[in-house]
Amino acid sequence: MPAQSVTERLRAGEVLLMDGGTGSELQRRGVEVLLGSRGDKLGPWSAMANLDAPDVVQQVHQDYLRVGADLIISNNFRTTRTRLAPVGLGDRWKEYAEAGGRLAVRARNAINPEAYVAGGIAAPGLGMLYDRPGSDVEIMGEPEYRREFAEHAGVLAETGVDVMLPEFVNFIADCVAAVDACAEAGRPVWLGVPTVTTDGITKNGETMDDLARALRGHPVQAILLMCSRPEAISATLPRLRQAFDGPIGAYPNVGYNPMAPVGGRVHLGPDLISAQAHSPSRLAELAQEWIEMGAQIVGGCCATGPEHIMAMGVAVRSARRPGGPGRVGGSGGSRHAEAPRASGRS
Ligand SMILES: [Zn+2]
Repeated sequence: MPAQSVTERLRAGEVLLMDGGTGSELQRRGVEVLLGSRGDKLGPWSAMANLDAPDVVQQVHQDYLRVGADLIISNNFRTTRTRLAPVGLGDRWKEYAEAGGRLAVRARNAINPEAYVAGGIAAPGLGMLYDRPGSDVEIMGEPEYRREFAEHAGVLAETGVDVMLPEFVNFIADCVAAVDACAEAGRPVWLGVPTVTTDGITKNGETMDDLARALRGHPVQAILLMCSRPEAISATLPRLRQAFDGPIGAYPNVGYNPMAPVGGRVHLGPDLISAQAHSPSRLAELAQEWIEMGAQIVGGCCATGPEHIMAMGVAVRSARRPGGPGRVGGSGGSRHAEAPRASGRS
């Protein structure tokens, strides 16, 4: 367990390096992640790997830690009852969830005990799954939605994760309910907001102002833009900085089509161009830009790998130098690091 809490480090204005994609990296290493997928709808994605390929999961975590990640996200994206049920594993979700937390904590303890583990829990995403309009809260009902996050966070807290990260949460109403539910586990809660656009809003047309306003008074310590194109992050991050007083961060994807793996290797199809345009060195430049915009947590999502995180680490380390952008006043300093209502004990 780290000597210094992640809350203290954020409050001191530090910039932290997050890991890169886990599911895409597992797929790249030959792990089956498409079981239960239909058409362009993903099934439980990387969830089953926690029991079926634990060594590879642990290896991915360890590789990110070895290239300098200060924080890894556990492989719990879809270890939920809702997303495991369609493949007949709904009643076993706790086993998959617990294994995900334990693998990440074990990797951390083995490679860098000062690193942190975020328990990443994706929103059910039922609207996308069933092509139904509306948020998860509307489709599931708020009590059921909250119960899923709260139970999952409780299992992850038992495994020793440092932070709860409800992520890929698409609607503001869902964000608020997910944050509240995850906070019940007694850890700081960060929120991962996906698929922002180059117009600086979410794909549902919701603004960063409305997001921050809705979360006011709720126990969210940090807000991160995630699984969005890098250029969309660059457009939206300044708006998030304006709207929200706590720590902010970014972990973009670099173009990815998980449904088109070829011969056990990922075939990026039309998105290949995007992936090439965002080479590790380009992503490192962008990380520098986001740190100057105030980001205190930077990493990667789908299709980023250890090589991207290693390159981004250069930007993070330069931000840590006295006078670097992560510590000076103005864009990224500690004036933003006070959580509105930081919860939990760490
Ligand atoms: Zn992603």
